[in-house]
Amino acid sequence: MDLYEYQGKQLFARFGIPVSEGRVAESPEAAKAAAAELDGPVVVKAQVLTGGRGKAGGIKLAATPDEAEARARDILGLDIRGHRVRTLWIEKASDIEREYYLSLTFDRSAKKPLYMFTTQGGVDIEEVAATSAEALVRLHVDPLEGFHPWQARRLVYAAGVSDPGEQKQIAAIVASLYEAFVACDAMLCEINPLIVTPEGEVRALDSKFTVDDNALYRQPEIAEMRDTEAADPLETLAREKHVTYVKLDGEVGVLGNGAGLSMSTVDVVTFAGGRPANFCDLGGGGDAQGVVDALSVITRDPQVRAIFFNIFGGITRCDEVARGILQALSEMTIDLPIVVRLDGTNAEEGRQILADAAAPNLHVEPTMLEAARRAVELAS
Ligand code: GDP
Ligand code: MN
Repeated sequence: MDLYEYQGKQLFARFGIPVSEGRVAESPEAAKAAAAELDGPVVVKAQVLTGGRGKAGGIKLAATPDEAEARARDILGLDIRGHRVRTLWIEKASDIEREYYLSLTFDRSAKKPLYMFTTQGGVDIEEVAATSAEALVRLHVDPLEGFHPWQARRLVYAAGVSDPGEQKQIAAIVASLYEAFVACDAMLCEINPLIVTPEGEVRALDSKFTVDDNALYRQPEIAEMRDTEAADPLETLAREKHVTYVKLDGEVGVLGNGAGLSMSTVDVVTFAGGRPANFCDLGGGGDAQGVVDALSVITRDPQVRAIFFNIFGGITRCDEVARGILQALSEMTIDLPIVVRLDGTNAEEGRQILADAAAPNLHVEPTMLEAARRAVELAS
């Protein structure tokens, strides 16, 4: 579960990480009142569960309460990569001397929390990792031993922070971040930028906070923070229908059985020069109801131009999936082209069933790559 910036900052503050004072506002009038209370220049920040808000015009400085009201009017209602802005965070503006980056995330391959720290903050961290990997300091924490203060010093020195005042403040933030991470069952706590003011004060200017869904039962206060209205309507529909679905930004609707195959399907569509519209895992089943449910979610996305079924029959038999597809098509009208690749148990029977049905928008391809190419072609 992802938290809004202001919610993450609330948690940061609780663990002693310095943040700027601010107020939530849901209307231009409230933004004006908040700016008046904060008494000085403010920054008006769109609260959406996606990054890169600055570049998208969702973060604006305002010198006066009237300006804050005007900026709030600009930003409210804005669509930032599919997320409509309904909430603002009005924060006391900071003067920025330097922008650093600090995060703590769960590194699944190492089975340990991983710190990343660099003095090249403010920009996309992926960019730093790609262009100047040596500037990004990485350090694992053994979860059984817990955090040791030397680890904070290692991060700070290795990144080349030379000012003793900064070193001390950052080391304290590094330690507090571990406490927050563990106490909140976080999967990610990211501060980008972690700023240094002209006075030499270090502060978290942004927050990205992700909490492990499986731990929400013991984090009732955080679970309460979930904003059900902001959830993607397609993902909400999928959740109701027990379909594993993640909306992406392309034109090829993708459906596989099993998470691994579904991931590969997303990749192969990209490899074939197309853009996947979603990730969707049919799960182990493939019965007609499962196919109907998945298709009803995928086809609700207006960007979808073609659908790619990628099925590998293991325990699931391809003939069953083929019948599921046909039954689904008889229960709902789908005009979009559907490309099917069936392989594994009873693949031939499955292909025969689809061929016999002779549905005009149904295309059966023998391999995953050929099917991907066909789907991409039909979507363009
Ligand atoms: P993001 O674009 O979603 O990552 O949002 P951030 O909260 O990180 O803000 C983006 C950028 O806006 C920051 O990197 C800063 O350069 C700038 N910014 C945000 N808050 C302030 C502020 O209080 N003062 C100044 N001068 N710039 C700010
Ligand atoms: Mn940021």
